[in-house]
Amino acid sequence: VLTEFELIRQIIGPMGGLNPCREDVRVGIGDDCAVLVPPPDQELVTSVDTLVEGVHFPREIDPGSLGYRSLAVALSDIAAMGAEPNWFTLALTIPNAEQDWLTAFAQGMGSLASNYQMQLIGGDTTKGPLTLSLQVFGFAPHGEALQRCGAKSADYIFVSGSLGDAGAGLGQLQEGTQEQNQYLMKRFTHPSPRIALGKALRSYANACIDISDGLSSDLGHILSASGLGAEIDSRALPLSDPLVASVGEAQARDLALTFGDDYELCFCIPEEYLNFVEEIAAELPLQITKIGMMTPTPGLKIRGMGDDWLNESKSGYRHF
Ligand code: ADP
Ligand code: MG
Repeated sequence: VLTEFELIRQIIGPMGGLNPCREDVRVGIGDDCAVLVPPPDQELVTSVDTLVEGVHFPREIDPGSLGYRSLAVALSDIAAMGAEPNWFTLALTIPNAEQDWLTAFAQGMGSLASNYQMQLIGGDTTKGPLTLSLQVFGFAPHGEALQRCGAKSADYIFVSGSLGDAGAGLGQLQEGTQEQNQYLMKRFTHPSPRIALGKALRSYANACIDISDGLSSDLGHILSASGLGAEIDSRALPLSDPLVASVGEAQARDLALTFGDDYELCFCIPEEYLNFVEEIAAELPLQITKIGMMTPTPGLKIRGMGDDWLNESKSGYRHF
């Protein structure tokens, strides 16, 4: 049986928690608090995410993927603000201390953390039903963080990557079907936080959000925060070939509109910056697709396949 300290070592070891990598951490793991030294010209950007087994991830997910996905999901919020990630804390509740599970989990999380030179600066370890709580931190230059408010009428609305993949991937993971599409599965287990895109958009986007609950509901947050409406065209939604091959085009469009979990960005760009957005897409490189436009009239209008307007706006994931 592991002692509490051995258990913490198991968790933080593979994440580099014993080998600090950043100079802006004066005191890291091992004391009662971390002591951090943010640069004077930056603002601190932070967010916390809690993931509960059976609610936010299925029991079937392997520990390495769970570690990777949990941090990726948290980092997506940092990306949406146009910030540069730096530190994170991990509060972990586990039913039992199983060494192989912990190592795989920590390696999954650590691989993503090291991609971004992020340092684990503390946390908490408790016994109970599997639950993860991650707080992530990042920097953005003074006044430059992107927000949900600030979109202007006639801004063009863009999304990154393709939408709907993770929804289909989650379905396959839960069904445990023999013929699993690795691409779709990975889009659920290993989402890509769009950090580089968020940073590049700082000077150009009037508003930005990450798509966690579904395009229509997350774009809805930009609309209410900005006091505007939008018209989008469901025919313009970026769908991947594997998604269309797996579920057909109609369901693919439905997933793209209403299913979250892809962690792409949705953002609003004024006309004079359209060519900069094209340059960013080519440089990253990352697919970026124009899906509609902001309007002065509140409400989200979605054009359907036959040039019609869809009746009820599709609502997205409901938390309660
Ligand atoms: P305290 O009792 O003072 O809260 P703990 O004994 O819980 O401290 O933790 C000791 C050290 O290990 C602290 O620096 C804490 O931040 C760190 N720690 C504990 N659990 C984790 C974890 N899951 N991930 C990262 N750091 C952790
Ligand atoms: Mg203490």
